[in-house]
Amino acid sequence: MNFETSSEGKNRLYRYRLQFRPLGLRLIFAFAVAFLISQLNLEYIDSWFFDLRIRARIFQKNTENIQLIYITPSTIQKLNGMPNSEYQNTLLKKLVSSGAKAIVYDIPISETPGSLLAKKTWATTIANNPQVYVASKETTLKGEEKNLYLSFPFENLKATPAPKTSDTLNFAKDSVTRRMILTYQDLPILQLQLARLYNPELVDPKNVRGHFLFYNTLQTYIDYLRPKAFKSFFIEDLGSNKIDFSQFKNKILIIGTDLNLNEAEYIRTPHSSSPTAMTRVEMLAHSIDTLIRNSSPLKLPLYVNWILLGLISAITIQIVLSMKPAQGLLTILGILAGFTLFCFGLSSFFGIWVTMAHPLLAGFLCYYFFIPYRLIIENRRSWEYYQKNKILSQVEELKTNFISMMSHDLKTPLARIQGMTDVILADSNSVSSQQREAIDTIKFSAEDLLKFVNAILNYGRVESQGFQLNIQSKDINNLLTEVVRKHEFLAKFKHIQIVMELEPMFPVPVDPDLIKQVFSNLVENAIKYSNDHTKILICNEEQDGKVMVQITDQGPGIPADELPHIFMKFFRSKNAKSSPIKGSGLGLYLAKYFTELHGGKIVVESICGNGSTFTVELPMNQGGSNA
Ligand code: ADP
Repeated sequence: MNFETSSEGKNRLYRYRLQFRPLGLRLIFAFAVAFLISQLNLEYIDSWFFDLRIRARIFQKNTENIQLIYITPSTIQKLNGMPNSEYQNTLLKKLVSSGAKAIVYDIPISETPGSLLAKKTWATTIANNPQVYVASKETTLKGEEKNLYLSFPFENLKATPAPKTSDTLNFAKDSVTRRMILTYQDLPILQLQLARLYNPELVDPKNVRGHFLFYNTLQTYIDYLRPKAFKSFFIEDLGSNKIDFSQFKNKILIIGTDLNLNEAEYIRTPHSSSPTAMTRVEMLAHSIDTLIRNSSPLKLPLYVNWILLGLISAITIQIVLSMKPAQGLLTILGILAGFTLFCFGLSSFFGIWVTMAHPLLAGFLCYYFFIPYRLIIENRRSWEYYQKNKILSQVEELKTNFISMMSHDLKTPLARIQGMTDVILADSNSVSSQQREAIDTIKFSAEDLLKFVNAILNYGRVESQGFQLNIQSKDINNLLTEVVRKHEFLAKFKHIQIVMELEPMFPVPVDPDLIKQVFSNLVENAIKYSNDHTKILICNEEQDGKVMVQITDQGPGIPADELPHIFMKFFRSKNAKSSPIKGSGLGLYLAKYFTELHGGKIVVESICGNGSTFTVELPMNQGGSNA
C-alpha cells in the first residue's frame, strides 16, 4: 500500500462519515421521538379510529344464523302487560318444535308475571330442553357457580354468563362496548357456547381470532356489522300465529327487551355513542355472529407499532430537513394520508387492526418540531452567505476601482508612445528598414494595449453604471461603413474580403460612439478569429420597427457548450485562450451591454467549424434606457 492510496482511502472514509453523520443523528432523533410518543396513552384516539374503520366497512354480511325476538312497549300495550309465564311457555314449546338450534332468554325470567303453576310448567319446559339458555348479566367466580341458579320456582335452572364489556374504566374509557369476554376463569361464556354450535373449532378458545388476555378473562373484539343487521320479530306477533315458525329451524333465537326502561338494556357501539345505540340482545347477536365467522379484528403485535412509529418519524424528519418547505409539507401529508388509507384497507379487506394514533402523531410532532430547527439552520446559513457576499462585493468593487485607476494612468504614456512612433515613421529616411519594422511592432503593440485599456475602462464604467446615452439620429449604414473602413487594414493583412450588402435606411436614434463600438467589436472578432482568405458578410434590413444588422464570418465557429457563456465578462473560449489571438474577453460583454442600453438585443448563431453570425437588433424609435 503506497502513501497516496492510503490517504485517498482516509479521505473517502472522512467523506462518508461527513455524509452519514447527519443521517445517523437524524435516525437517533427519530427513534428518541418515537420512544417518547410510544409512552403516551392514546387509546381514546385509537379507539376512535377503530370505530371509524368499523363505520367505513365496505363488505358486511351476517351469517343469518341469529334472529331476535323483542318485547317492546307495543307488546305491553297489546298484551296488557309483560308476556306472562303461560304465554312464554306456549311460545317456547312452539319455538322448540320449530327446530331452533338454540333459544336464549335475555330477560329476568324469575320476574315474569303468572301463577306459580304456570311458572313451574315453564321452568319444566326450559329444563327439559337443553337448547334453551337463560342469559345472566353477571359472571361468577369458580366455586360460586351456585349464584347462577335462578330463584324459586326456577331454582333448577342455571343461567349462563353473558356480560357486556363496555370500555368504562379501561381502554378508551368512553363506555362503548367493543370487546366481549370469551372465557371467565376458563369457563366459556354464552356467546362462545352458542357459536360452537356452528363453529366447532372454537372448542379451544385459543382458536378465536384476535383473542387476548385481560385480567382473568380471555377476550376478543366484536366485529360489528351495521346496526339492525339481524332479522327481528315482535313477541306478540309470534303469539298470534302471524309468523311462519319453519323459518326458525336451525337458528339461534334470542328473546330480549327493547323497552327503553333502563340503560342496562342498551349499549354504546362504534356506530353511535348514544347510550341507547343498540339493544343488549343485538350486541349478543353481533358477538355470536363474530365468533361464528371467527372474524374478530386482529390487532398487530406491539413491535409492528414500534417499527411504523420509528419509520414515520425518520421519514418525516428526513423530508423536513431535506425538501423544499411546500413540497415537504405535501409529501408528509401524502404519506400520512397514504398510511391512513392503507390501515383502512387492511381493516376492511383483512380485518387487521393497525393502531394509527401513535404513527400519525409522530408525523405531525416531528414536522412541527423540526421545522423551527430547519429555520434556525437556514437562517444561520443565509447569514453566513450574506457576510461572505458582502466581503466579496467589497473586494470586487476595490478590484474594479483599482483596474480603472491603473488603466486610466496607462493611457497617457501609451498615447505618448504612439505619438513618438508616428513622428519617427513620418520621416522614413531617418531609420533603417530593420528599425522601421521594430517601430511598427511597437506601434501595433501600443494599439493592442490601448484597446485593452479602453475595454477595461468601459468595463469599469459599466460596473459602476456610469454610461449615459448621447442619442443622435444617425444612419446606421454610415456607422457600419466607418467601422469597416477602420478595420480594412487588418482584413487586408489576412486577405479577408469584407462584403457589405446594405439596404438604404432611415436614420435611427442611437448613441453613435457606443453603437460603433458594438459593430467594431463584432467586425474585429470576425476578422480576428477567421482564417486567411475567407469572407465576411455584413448586411442589414428593417423588420417590425427594428433595424437588424448581421455580421457573418467563415471562421471556426463557437462550440455549442461555450455559446451560452460568450457574452459573459472576461469569458474567452478554450481555443482562443490557447491561441496567439489576443483579447480581453470583454468585447462581446460590452457589445451586449451597449445594445441592451438602446433597448435592443444581440444574438449569435454558430456551428462549430462553419462560421458564426452575430445579429444586432435595434429599435427604430427611441426606446433605449438611460444607464
Ligand atoms: P475576446 O477579447 O476574447 O475576443 P470577446 O468577448 O470579444 O472576447 O469574445 C468572447 C469569446 O467569444 C472569444 O474568446 C471567442 O472565443 C468567441 N468569439 C467571439 N466572436 C467570435 C467569432 N466571430 N468567431 C469565433 N469565436 C468568436
